[in-house]
Amino acid sequence: MALNVIMMGPPGAGKGTQAGRFARERALLKISTGDILRDGIKAKLPIAMRAKELMDRGELVDDATMIAIVRERLMRPDAQCGFVLDGFPRTVPQAEALDTIVAERNNGPLIVVDVRVPEHELVRRLAGRLICARCGTNAEPSKEGAPAPDACAKCGGELVQRTDDNEQVVRERLKVYERATKPLVEFYRDRSTFRIVNGAQPQERVAHELDTVIDDAAAASTGATAPAAVTSQKAART
Ligand SMILES: [Zn+2]
Repeated sequence: MALNVIMMGPPGAGKGTQAGRFARERALLKISTGDILRDGIKAKLPIAMRAKELMDRGELVDDATMIAIVRERLMRPDAQCGFVLDGFPRTVPQAEALDTIVAERNNGPLIVVDVRVPEHELVRRLAGRLICARCGTNAEPSKEGAPAPDACAKCGGELVQRTDDNEQVVRERLKVYERATKPLVEFYRDRSTFRIVNGAQPQERVAHELDTVIDDAAAASTGATAPAAVTSQKAART
């Protein structure tokens, strides 16, 4: 059975890093919508070219286009042992379409992980974020007590504070995320395969919790877990 995972979480929660690590360790395909768009454009996939046209005109890529791009990717052979999706779905219609795709694949349930971090912690993390002035790569956040890196790990370029990272802007971005995501959380929250992870811990702890809840959700969906474990998860959710 495949492990099909969606990672949700606000900017600054570290879900991209965790999604990458989990996918690597379990030999799953990590799919971020940014990556498949870029790959599709490189391969001149018609659907990706349509998305590019929209973006070039400064428009948002609509649900139907986004869904078609993700569907194409998830139906390829290398996605059949499972995937970790980062950045999709973003809307309820996208989530409904993903349910259909997962049902068509008929290869394991969809596990939804919501990585939560309190707002004050996200503001602390995001407002101090450095970015490479040359190539735009985000600098790895420095470990507590360690000095901040002084050059880009990728290209050696100068690191500067992101212009959009002052506290006011960060709070506004988080509010936008919250508003946009609320319907999605409501869409998923009553499923037995929905799990919340505390993202306000050191990375290794987050990783451990993530592994545990995903394995638990996978087991629960096949009926292998005692009902008590499912109940306590539900209680922890409210
Ligand atoms: Zn750089």
